[in-house]
This record gives sequence, structure tokens and C-alpha cells, in this order.
Amino acid sequence: MKGTKPLKQLKLAVPAQETPVDKFLTASGTFQDGDLRLNQRGLRLISEEKETRTPDAEEVDMQFALEDLETIKVIGKGSGGVVQLVRHKWMGTLYALKGIQMNIQETVRKQIVQELKINQASLCPHIVVCYHSFYHNGVISLVLEYMDRGSLADIIKQVKTILEPYLAVLCKQVLEGLVYLHHERHVIHRDIKPSNLLVNHKGEVKITDFGVSAVLASSMGQRDTFVGTYNYMSPERISGSSYDYKSDIWSLGLVILECAIGRFPYIPSEEEEGWLSFYELLEAIVDQPAPCAPPDQFSPEFCSFVSACIQKDPQQRLSSLELLNHPFIKKFEDKDIDLGILVSSLDPPVNVVD
Ligand code: ATP
Ligand code: MG
Repeated sequence: MKGTKPLKQLKLAVPAQETPVDKFLTASGTFQDGDLRLNQRGLRLISEEKETRTPDAEEVDMQFALEDLETIKVIGKGSGGVVQLVRHKWMGTLYALKGIQMNIQETVRKQIVQELKINQASLCPHIVVCYHSFYHNGVISLVLEYMDRGSLADIIKQVKTILEPYLAVLCKQVLEGLVYLHHERHVIHRDIKPSNLLVNHKGEVKITDFGVSAVLASSMGQRDTFVGTYNYMSPERISGSSYDYKSDIWSLGLVILECAIGRFPYIPSEEEEGWLSFYELLEAIVDQPAPCAPPDQFSPEFCSFVSACIQKDPQQRLSSLELLNHPFIKKFEDKDIDLGILVSSLDPPVNVVD
């Protein structure tokens, strides 16, 4: 074209890539790979653009040095490590600090990046916030929002069963979390189970652990030491087929049914002692008819809700969005049911001593 010089083709030299593993914990203690930065002060997802525009991102990190957190007590133990109640020495804020023993590998790092992405920008009140994460001496520590009434697993240990109105209120909140993950973030949780649904004294229910601990633990060869992890897996997933968002819906259905009937649905009766082996469980989930709520003990709305979740064919299951509009959820929506009153009447999972 007249007046314009032909564009020269620019050739850029691409520096040789070191393998990521070699970069970990160098003398400077910092590893950076794309938008993931890892050092002794923490593991952060930093958008390159954002970092150049906000030079004080590092200072924000500094507010969360691990030594600024003092332990109050251990509040839980999972397959990957312990969860402690901690207090920030200067701010006085309480957090749950979850430690996970690990050797970082490429695939695992991708999972962590995903978790950080979800949590950093979490605009959903039904997802537990992960404020920060640290990596030090082979342990990843996640600084999580503290949920002072523990998990649904703690609650059902005490109350045995939860009545339908409370279940509807609880379920609505979990579904709102799932709608956010599935429809806005486009991620599958992969590990919906009672211990990953946390509750606070206000009666708020939030989802935690986006399958990261499972991935981390399996990367350490601990698959066989998992207790309960496979229980809520959908037939397609436990049998190794491809799976999608609907896999989380199956898990939710089993959790809700368990809360209603007071036992894990695949264990036939209270008298049945012992735990199913992995193969017995696999066979039950894949070959037996899907469990359902007994219609003589529960409302038609509840039975229909459970069966909309626990369908062996994932295509037959409703989506999180559809379930939010299910008559079971709608039935109790305007009834002013306070889950906070229920959870506050129970023994707290931990006594905070000032
Ligand atoms: P697994 O590791 O097999 O998935 P899990 O979910 O029980 O099992 P963790 O995620 O390590 O393992 O949690 C252990 C326990 O710690 C939970 O059951 C819960 O009682 C408690 N817990 C976890 N996160 C928090 C939190 N943010 N606030 C309060 N308690 C928490
Ligand atoms: Mg958990």
C-alpha cells in the first residue's frame, strides 16, 4: 500500500524452558510459572497484567505470612493433613488453616491454579473463601474462611437425621454454590460429600475443597488410605467413564438422602456393621438400582428431588439450576426456616478459648 512500509516479520528468541520441577524453591525461594507464583510466603495466582498495574500485590501477600498466624487448636483431620483453627496475631481474625503434605507435580499445580482462580474471584456466598496459600517444606497450607459449626458430617453425627424443611434450606445453599461452579465457573467439584459442606452459626452453608486434596493425596500414592472418598462417586465416575457436572448432582443426592434417613444409603440397614470394601461399593453403585427415599416416610416433593439427583444415567439427572426450581426447594422458600437455630442448638465442633 502507498505510504506504508511492508511489515518486517519479527523473530523473537524463545529462552529455553527449564523443567518446572527444577525451579521449585531455588535459592531465592521463588518459583514463577505463568500466573502461578510460589515462594515461602505463599502460593499466589497473579495475573501478569494485574501485577504490573498493582505493584503492591506483594505487600498484600506479606500480610499473610505464616508466622503471623497462631494456632488455637486442631479442628479436623483429612486424608491430606490436619485443619487448624488459627488467629491472625495482628488482625485477630480467625481462619481455618489446612495443611496438605505434597510433592508438587505439573498436573497437581494446574489443579491448585484452578482452585485459586475459583476462590480468588469467588463472588458466591456459598463457596468457602481461600484467602491465601503457602508452600513451605513440602506442605501446602490453605488459609480458609473459618466455618464455626464445622461440616455436615459433624452435624449428622450429632443429630442423626435432618428434617425436610432444614434439608431444603441447606440444599438450596449448596445448589447455589453448585450453580456458581457449574454454570459460571464451568468446573466440576468432584468431591461433594458431608465433610466438604461447611456450616456457620448464621446457618450459612458453603462448599469447600474443589477436589484438590483428593488430587494431591492421590499424587502421593495415598489412594488406598482414603476413607469415604469413593462413597459419593457417581456410577459413571467410579467405573472410570467420562463424567461431567452431573456427577456432582449424584453426590449431592446421596448426601441429602443420607441426612434424611440417617445412614449412608448403600449400607442396607443400621444392623449392618462394617464398611463396604471398594469393590462392594463399586458393584453396588454400578449394578444395583439407584437408592431412593422411602415414600411412606418422606414427602412426594422430597422423594422426587432425591430421584432427580440419584439417577444412574447422568442425562436423566437434573442440573443444579433446574434443581433450584424444584418443588422441594420452592416448598420451604418463604417459610423463614432458620438453619442457624438448628446448628446453634448443637454442641459446637470446637470451643474457641480466648
Ligand atoms: P478428605 O481429606 O478425605 O477429603 P475431609 O474433607 O474431612 O476428608 P479436610 O478437608 O482436611 O478433610 O477437613 C477435615 C475437617 O476439618 C472437616 O471435616 C471439617 O470438620 C474441618 N474443616 C475443614 N475446613 C474447615 C473450615 N474452613 N472451617 C471449619 N472447619 C473446617
Ligand atoms: Mg474436606
